[in-house]
Amino acid sequence: MQKKSCQFSSKKVDYYFDADFALLEKLVGKEHTVLITDENIYGLHAKKFKGWNSIVLKPGEEFKIQPTVDAVIEELIESGADRKTTLVGIGGGVVTDITGYVAAIFMRGIRCGFVPSTVLAMVDASIGGKNGVDVGIYKNLVGTIRQPDFLLYDYSLLKTLPETEWINGFAEIIKHSCIKDLRMFKELEEKKLSFYKKDKAALGKLILRNAMLKSKVVEQDEFEAGDRRLLNFGHTLGHAIENMYELSHGQAISIGMTMACHLSAKLAGFKDTDRVVRVLEQYGLPTYAEFDKNAAFDVLQKDKKKERTTMNYVLLDKIGKGIVQQVPMNQLKTLIDELPA
Ligand code: ADP
Ligand code: ZN
Repeated sequence: MQKKSCQFSSKKVDYYFDADFALLEKLVGKEHTVLITDENIYGLHAKKFKGWNSIVLKPGEEFKIQPTVDAVIEELIESGADRKTTLVGIGGGVVTDITGYVAAIFMRGIRCGFVPSTVLAMVDASIGGKNGVDVGIYKNLVGTIRQPDFLLYDYSLLKTLPETEWINGFAEIIKHSCIKDLRMFKELEEKKLSFYKKDKAALGKLILRNAMLKSKVVEQDEFEAGDRRLLNFGHTLGHAIENMYELSHGQAISIGMTMACHLSAKLAGFKDTDRVVRVLEQYGLPTYAEFDKNAAFDVLQKDKKKERTTMNYVLLDKIGKGIVQQVPMNQLKTLIDELPA
């Protein structure tokens, strides 16, 4: 086990890397704790939940909605939860988003922790304090920014993770390397997914490195005025096409990153698009895809990052160095129309 801490504006968050699930009992105790998870994880890791109060949700993004929050709150009331209760979310981003949100609003805020069970949640979703639910077609429209008290990393949970979810997580890992960490990018170039799945030590190091990379970025810019925006690399076009086609988040941002590389070449003299594309494909991710450019642009028009006539777009100056550049919307339209498929 390796303990690290990050000091966010409102709270210090403790990270227990390479830990065993059993550590949870020492951190919170069974009596005043409620675990929240989903049916898949509960079914696959039933032993871990023995003796704990648990709330089991239906899996999937389609249940990341307010009615689920209401149902959790009712279960909490029934089980006699109070201000002293700690909520612990054990799962992927859906579970940790809901858990963090309920913990933020129940009795105006109770303690909470996360045990991320997907690569994506370990390196991204469970870090940074953003939580909440979707409303109709709008993802994460309602929620808060509130840091958890702790994160516990038990890599043994990943033994049951489906291949597609591994690939999803590696899309965010590649993203981190592109915007901030050339050395990690080079390591990823040399290895492949099957290596990390087999080599527990290498995987542990990679996850820790990514979790700390994201944490440092958030620590310096919790409310997204500067560097935190870099984490949106690939996400602007990515989010637009994620909803239009049935793509996983990792697939969508991989296509988004490929397109952002091409925009970077045109707007910032970026020279390594092929290298980024090669790594994405090496980890099973799609890169060039035909998509309805007019429809995608219409979605971009509604993006949170859009100002009146310009959009803050995350580009690469070089591998390991992301930059934010204001791109006029009409220029963006032309650039997107010219993108290769
Ligand atoms: P994320 O947002 O982190 O990708 P989700 O919460 O959407 O994660 O979870 C993705 C899917 O993977 C869900 O169906 C979930 O039940 C399942 N899942 C999460 N963790 C595990 C695990 N350790 N083993 C098997 N399936 C898992
Ligand atoms: Zn993402």
